[in-house]
Amino acid sequence: MSSVDFINENINWKDITPGGEVYEGGTAADFRTGDWRVSIPEFIADKCKQCLLCTPVCPDAAIPVENGKRADFDFDHCKGCGICAKVCPFGAIVMKKEEK
Ligand code: SF4
Ligand code: SF4
Repeated sequence: MSSVDFINENINWKDITPGGEVYEGGTAADFRTGDWRVSIPEFIADKCKQCLLCTPVCPDAAIPVENGKRADFDFDHCKGCGICAKVCPFGAIVMKKEEK
């Protein structure tokens, strides 16, 4: 069992690692790490040319590719950094203020 498998909102702080440290790699998929985002990208599918330039620059791998085409954002993990919007040459990604 990974050290993060049992971490949830119901466990006591004494049951987790010191400082809540996570020792394994690749564990972001276990958590919704995008919930502190203040900006959010909007995908404008009509403008997208499927060049896939945006996908590899996302530091959080939050732009999924399905059947060779980019899909909508993974908002559970997108941090709203805006890199994808800067990279897109076709204006298919615009950044907006996150509404909570
Ligand atoms: S805003 Fe940043 S984190 Fe979100 S999808 Fe774009 S590049 Fe990835
Ligand atoms: S960079 Fe823009 S046009 Fe290219 S796949 Fe991403 S959203 Fe679509």
